[in-house]
Amino acid sequence: MSLAIDYRARVAKVSKALRDHKQDVLFVTPGADLKYLTGYEALPLERLTALAICATGEALMVVPHLELPAAQASGIAEQDIALYSWQETQNPYELLASETRSRTTHSGLLVGNLMWVEKAYGIAEAFGVQPKLAGKLLSDIRSIKDEVETQALIEAGAAIDAVHSQMAKWLRAGRTEREVGRDIAEAILAAGHARVDFVIVASGPNGASPHHEVSDRVIEAGDPVVVDIGGTMPSGYCSDSTRMYCVGAPTAEYLEHYEVLKQAQVAAVEFARPGVSCESVDSSAREILSGAGLGEFFIHRTGHGIGLETHEEPYIVEGNTTKLVPGHAFSIEPGFYIPGKFGARIEDIVVCTQGGIINTNNTTHDLVIL
Ligand code: ZN
Ligand code: ZN
Repeated sequence: MSLAIDYRARVAKVSKALRDHKQDVLFVTPGADLKYLTGYEALPLERLTALAICATGEALMVVPHLELPAAQASGIAEQDIALYSWQETQNPYELLASETRSRTTHSGLLVGNLMWVEKAYGIAEAFGVQPKLAGKLLSDIRSIKDEVETQALIEAGAAIDAVHSQMAKWLRAGRTEREVGRDIAEAILAAGHARVDFVIVASGPNGASPHHEVSDRVIEAGDPVVVDIGGTMPSGYCSDSTRMYCVGAPTAEYLEHYEVLKQAQVAAVEFARPGVSCESVDSSAREILSGAGLGEFFIHRTGHGIGLETHEEPYIVEGNTTKLVPGHAFSIEPGFYIPGKFGARIEDIVVCTQGGIINTNNTTHDLVIL
């Protein structure tokens, strides 16, 4: 899918934010920030590729000479971004500094949060000024998804749903988590993703570790299995969904806990809407788990923002008083993790809109018995 994205408008938003925050220039290196601002998926190399957006509205980019064709092919040249390439023996930081200085004062320097420290130090040295982190200046812009991005997240959600709905093909007693994980990874690609980002198949007691990936444990009859999977679509937008399976009949104890979790997850999805704070979405799920004595086993925040990165702002966590607005996209994924026994998590990616919440994940929230 090629997205009709107005990159000029995104760069203009950053320029305005720089003026609002009384900063002069923002530097961004390869990664999600650069892709968001220009569409250019540059290789994260030791050689410097850097975009500079000035408060004046001007933007320039410095690229290694050998990367120039790739940068031009990405459409940078059509975006009012002045492009400068540097030869192998040149100092790219000096080139960046001299071209930036010719466009703006340079007392307030910001660097993207994802920049390698090596690059940030290079910039500091060339300018003789210590840059600050862009922090919210950029994430406040990136966290508000427009219609094209919302559509991309809906497509990502449908693709990962297609994988969950085939789980019965792969998940059964006698197979290892790794074997099941390999089949799931193939299916993630077959469902339209360009890349597999993670595959968690956490069976039985392994389910008590939220970020367990896969192991050589043989799945046994009666095991609850946490399956949390995600990938990146050709659009660049990510999927991330957790569903719970049980290989054979679950115990009464597990089922009882699971029903509470399902209630908590559904309650938080219903609670989320424009105007409520991120932390109140977290507490809407947490209170239900706590009320049933499971609070101490819910050991992570309720969710994370998602877009070009699987984890980005806004974080659905106690202490985040940010109010949800249309365009915020994030996970709602409460869980419980009982060491040595089992665990569970149910996760949807939702997008907040004027009309309420769009849930991008629509497979059953019930415990699926295989
Ligand atoms: Zn997640
Ligand atoms: Zn997940």
